Amino acid sequence: MKISHIEHLGIAVKSIEEALPYYENVLGLKCYNIEEVVDQKVKTAFLKVGQTKIELLEPTCEESTIAKFIEKRGEGVHHVAFAIEDGVANALAEAEAAGIRLIDKAPRKGAESLNIAFLHPKSTIGVLTELCEH
Ligand code: ZN
Repeated sequence: MKISHIEHLGIAVKSIEEALPYYENVLGLKCYNIEEVVDQKVKTAFLKVGQTKIELLEPTCEESTIAKFIEKRGEGVHHVAFAIEDGVANALAEAEAAGIRLIDKAPRKGAESLNIAFLHPKSTIGVLTELCEH
């Protein structure tokens, strides 16, 4: 697979409203979009850092995987998303052939209409890894 850059870092927060003043007022970043991804049970807020983004993830209910993550490990970095130049489907096939456990067998639509797919952290040395393309 061909990775061009880190597309975004996903950071789990209990509350976007409470987290934003740190990112905006202390770090001086600007939130340019807040959207709810209903099927993932999260609200997301995006901030740009050069070519890379920060994606704040707030659970919208207790069954959300983000709620479970915060319960187990606290707030903090949740996943790393790489921008794939030669297609997520292709990258998934390559990862599977290399023996990596896939969370998504095929690309699906994520926030910002990206095609996304996740690799399981048990196969990626502890880091939940997202592959994405525009
Ligand atoms: Zn993400």
